[in-house]
Amino acid sequence: MAQPSRFEIAVLPGDGIGVEVTAAALDVLDALAAVVGGFRFAWRHYPGGARAYRDTGVALSDETMKALENADAILFGAMGLPDIRYADGTEIAPQLDIRVNLDLYAGVRPIRAFAGLPCPLSDPRAAGIDFVLIREQTEGLFYARGRGQVIAGQEAHDTMRITRKGSERVFDFALRLAERRKERGRSGRVTCVDKSNVFTSMAFFRRIFDEQARRFPAVAADHCYIDAMALNLVHQPWSYDVIVTENMFGDILSDLGAGLVGGMGMAPSGDIGDRHALFQPAHGSAPDIAGTGKANPTAMFLSAVMMLEWFAERHGQTACRDAADALGRAIERTFQQGRVKPFEFGGSSGTAAITRAVMDAFRVNARKR
Ligand code: ATP
Repeated sequence: MAQPSRFEIAVLPGDGIGVEVTAAALDVLDALAAVVGGFRFAWRHYPGGARAYRDTGVALSDETMKALENADAILFGAMGLPDIRYADGTEIAPQLDIRVNLDLYAGVRPIRAFAGLPCPLSDPRAAGIDFVLIREQTEGLFYARGRGQVIAGQEAHDTMRITRKGSERVFDFALRLAERRKERGRSGRVTCVDKSNVFTSMAFFRRIFDEQARRFPAVAADHCYIDAMALNLVHQPWSYDVIVTENMFGDILSDLGAGLVGGMGMAPSGDIGDRHALFQPAHGSAPDIAGTGKANPTAMFLSAVMMLEWFAERHGQTACRDAADALGRAIERTFQQGRVKPFEFGGSSGTAAITRAVMDAFRVNARKR
């Protein structure tokens, strides 16, 4: 009999609720592997984050960075705490270094409404919100991180960097995603978000988008300025399919996207490059609720679904595809049937209750098969 595939996963729980939702996700993934079969996980835990920096002076060691390069994938909780900072006032954010070091250029943030949970938008069409935000993650305005200058206490400069290579690859990623979504019945449209009416760098970004889009005739391509997009995402978020933008705009729009479907605890993400990938909830360490058991682990579970999908695509693993579908369906059913309501939606279900409910849902379904 064939041996099950074994995936070595680097686990970086980090700070605050990152630790809590990561522990919940590992329980869910182990249970899922046992139910579906055909693959298993070897978890390799590594320290890192703001607490690690306070205790050791190092936010993420060189050895850990090296180990991440050798892992099959990385599961990441959240890092950073507002009261532990570098001397210049910025927060400890090794996730930004990981993105650059491992060249994780596509920040993939699916935004989807879940049946059974209250939606902040009253328009019934909000139930159909289902788009993917692709955030470029290796340059843009974040290129300025660690390079900014305050000159003579009088002015400060941070520089936005847009390169042809960095733009082409992220546009290709978005356009290919739209092609695949079209095959699954979505509109197959990519909207490039920029501020090309003001900045030379953004006009360059848009020009490269138009060039790349011509190579994908099956995909509809259009543009929107970032300010108009802030409005459109509140007025008609259901009309978007794939959105692609530079690093800083993507950072802001991903929180707006999470807000559209009810909260940070529902927004997963994958940081994906050509060789490596990291999966993490879009939220931060949420120190205001850390230790209370109130964190919603769903974003972390949905990030785990993305990791399984990535394995399925990369290694042609049907077992991982089955597992991704089983976990995705279990999460949907858990909310649809009203089994749990997270605190951030005004309910009283915490991390443990949601984790139990999701595990029960895929176990029940496995028995039915
Ligand atoms: P960062 O800048 O590190 O991404 P942030 O400033 O966006 O962090 P978060 O830590 O994401 O802040 O938290 C923002 C708000 O959302 C907080 O009030 C927090 O309690 C809430 N929140 C975030 N994640 C969750 C979650 N998983 N479950 C419930 N509430 C959450």
